[in-house]
Amino acid sequence: MPVRGLRNCSQIVTMASALKKDGRKIVPTDLSVIEDGAVIYDDQAILWVGRDSELSDEMKRVPSRDMRGHVVTPCLVDSHTHSVFGGNRAVEYGKRLNGASYQEIAAAGGGILSTVEATGKLGRTALVESGIARIEAMLARGVGAIEVKSGYGLDYDKELELTLAIDDLKKHFKGRARIFNTFMAAHAVPKRFATSNDYMRTEVIPLMHKLADFKAIDGVDIFFEQGYFSREDTILLFKEAASRGLALKVHADEFNDNKGAVLACEHGALSCDHLLMTSQDGIRALAGSPTVGTLLPGTGLFLGKPAANARELFDSGAKMAIASDFNPGSCHCDDLALIASLAAPLYKLNLGELWVSITLNAAHALGYKDMGAIVPGHAPRFTAFKCTTIEEVTYSWGKNLSVGVI
Ligand SMILES: [Zn+2]
Repeated sequence: MPVRGLRNCSQIVTMASALKKDGRKIVPTDLSVIEDGAVIYDDQAILWVGRDSELSDEMKRVPSRDMRGHVVTPCLVDSHTHSVFGGNRAVEYGKRLNGASYQEIAAAGGGILSTVEATGKLGRTALVESGIARIEAMLARGVGAIEVKSGYGLDYDKELELTLAIDDLKKHFKGRARIFNTFMAAHAVPKRFATSNDYMRTEVIPLMHKLADFKAIDGVDIFFEQGYFSREDTILLFKEAASRGLALKVHADEFNDNKGAVLACEHGALSCDHLLMTSQDGIRALAGSPTVGTLLPGTGLFLGKPAANARELFDSGAKMAIASDFNPGSCHCDDLALIASLAAPLYKLNLGELWVSITLNAAHALGYKDMGAIVPGHAPRFTAFKCTTIEEVTYSWGKNLSVGVI
């Protein structure tokens, strides 16, 4: 197996200390930065990391890239996106800026159902092609692992097609980016069903089992909110998915405090996401659980909502991640580094908390325990940034300093 190296890195952000602390209660020194660093790796794993001056003579002979003038981090991980969809909702965005209410937008044909209609017009090939373009853009910004959800079909056949399109993307990017395929037919309740539970039992659960048979999906997700899917629906999905060995994720506590975070922890979910309204019960549950709490600051900013109670979540010892929530309706932004730039002052995060949220903890939100740190044994997935200190990356809001995923 060929062995390679990255040498003379201005900094290597290893996250070694953050890894030892399981991504909790992070302080800036937990970034474990190595100045003038080198890393040696093969196709499977990182073999050695340290100061360039400490390389053995044998390691110095390994074919290496000179990374002078670059900072190397674990690859960025975007653990929550809805990247496969048709159309866009720019008109709706403009209407909202101009003062239209949610009801007025829905009455004019906007909202998620307009994306469902636009997605319905695209076949599998077009869905895959648009997905490739979106994921290439994320890769160019240094994101090397991406979760992609279905959920704009809301119909047995269309959700099947969306999931198979995500599976196509997974195969297309194999070796360049890890794609986590999340089945989220429980995104909204189609109008043809009287209740959410009818939809769950008639279409969502049977399709989930079929996709589990195909081994096409990695996990499931559900929009657990009043007026969408209930606690009963969520528990049904969790139990059925767990029986097939699938990972569990949930959109929780965005509009109301439904104790979604508590439910996620009770069922051993990989993550619960949004958490705008999560109260003390949820914070306590996350602090004592391996379940990752994922914040999506772009969505709140896009919609003009108050921020999540991030400081308390981070201080409690909960394992926190930050993701883009890239989607056409409530956060049309695929730039995770920009999202992190915005999150830092919004949530009052230190630099260690910020970086652990988009690398190590985000990887754990996808069950990727071999990603998110540059330590021996971990997968050799790095992002290189053209700058000399880690601060520069999120300091330069919206400027892409990444030279891609290595
Ligand atoms: Zn979402």
